Amino acid sequence: MARANENYLKLKAGYLFPEIGRRINEFATANPDAKVIRLGIGDVTRPLSPTVLKAFHAAVDDLGSSENFHGYGPEQGYGFLIDTIIEKSYKPLGVEMKPSEVFISDGSKCDCANILDIFDLSNKVAICDPVYPVYNDTNVMVGRTGQADEKGYYEGIVYLPCTEENGFTPELPNQKVDIIYLCYPNNPTGTVATKDELKKWVDYALANDAVIFFDAAYEAFITEDNIPHSIYEIEGAKRCAIEFRSFSKTAGFTGVRCALTVVPEEVMGKTGAGEPVSFNKLWNRRQSTKFNGVSYPVQRAAAAVYSDEGWKETREIIDYYMENARIIREGLSAAGITCYGGVNSPYIWLKSPEGSSWDFFDKLLQECHVVGTPGSGFGPSGEGYFRLSAFGDRENIETAVSRIKEKWGK
Ligand SMILES: *Cc1c(COP(=O)(O)O)cnc(C)c1O
Repeated sequence: MARANENYLKLKAGYLFPEIGRRINEFATANPDAKVIRLGIGDVTRPLSPTVLKAFHAAVDDLGSSENFHGYGPEQGYGFLIDTIIEKSYKPLGVEMKPSEVFISDGSKCDCANILDIFDLSNKVAICDPVYPVYNDTNVMVGRTGQADEKGYYEGIVYLPCTEENGFTPELPNQKVDIIYLCYPNNPTGTVATKDELKKWVDYALANDAVIFFDAAYEAFITEDNIPHSIYEIEGAKRCAIEFRSFSKTAGFTGVRCALTVVPEEVMGKTGAGEPVSFNKLWNRRQSTKFNGVSYPVQRAAAAVYSDEGWKETREIIDYYMENARIIREGLSAAGITCYGGVNSPYIWLKSPEGSSWDFFDKLLQECHVVGTPGSGFGPSGEGYFRLSAFGDRENIETAVSRIKEKWGK
């Protein structure tokens, strides 16, 4: 028999969302008339913008004509999309970039996972806690870790607790690490990092020859002026950071699939013998061999997000979600619940007013018929917290908030 990759067996296999589903089903069976409002999973709910949809349709029609037919495209993405992103999304931030540094893909989730292909297993990795589980689990899958301890920390990974005390921005690690995952605006805590905070990490990375993986999936949700949208707004970051961005949350592409990864040419690693290696070259090689590009209509639709009309409509959808976030944050705060996030991100990270994360999950489901995500599912430091998502219909959000206020408000 072929031998299996036993690293997969180390994973605490997909416990969170199946368990949530199980508890909802149990509740729904016992209470068939209850109208359950789901603010748990981080998926968008609004349709694509009309301008984006039009470009999508037109590009599909292109494929039906012999003049405009497109077969395999460049593995790195079409120039029209790469140039648009550089011009419309990075230039306004004062960030210069070469087209050869931008790689279009079908998602940030897979890019965050696949990037590990071009890094040696000997690298020491630092991961925040709580965290988007993909960073942790993909390191387990490639074999960088030992087993998990009883808390859920894997041997070999350096965990960086993000707590109320440190404002959900971690302290620098107390040992040398080679790779650091940062996600701002953060999923699950909804909090952001200031330029000074990011500078601390860039300085650390430059001083320690480390690489930062910066996940900016929620950058479009930033509403405050002084918050960085890209790590490259920090001086020196082009020498030490790889940035992941996605159209998923920005433009409702969770089902369409389009994202990008920026690997600047200056980000260097070394061989075992100490010879310098360009990660940009390795990533290009990796993508050319293992990936065949994102479909032409999807890339046309993505480019339309940054057209004048497309961006105006896209912003309106983001504003709609952010108004939901405000309603949740202010409503819960008024009920005496401590809330974080929700200002520059679509997530509200609240402190459980009663018991553990799972206790609060059950209470919220039983008494308010509202579903969220227990903070402990994102890591041990998430215990006692709870994530509510602002993706959803306004009416549902308002109903959910008024039910919570009724239950916990004084
Ligand atoms: C939703 C999300 C992404 C986007 O993933 P896609 O594969 O592009 O849909 C990336 N990172 C985080 C933290 C997310 O929550």
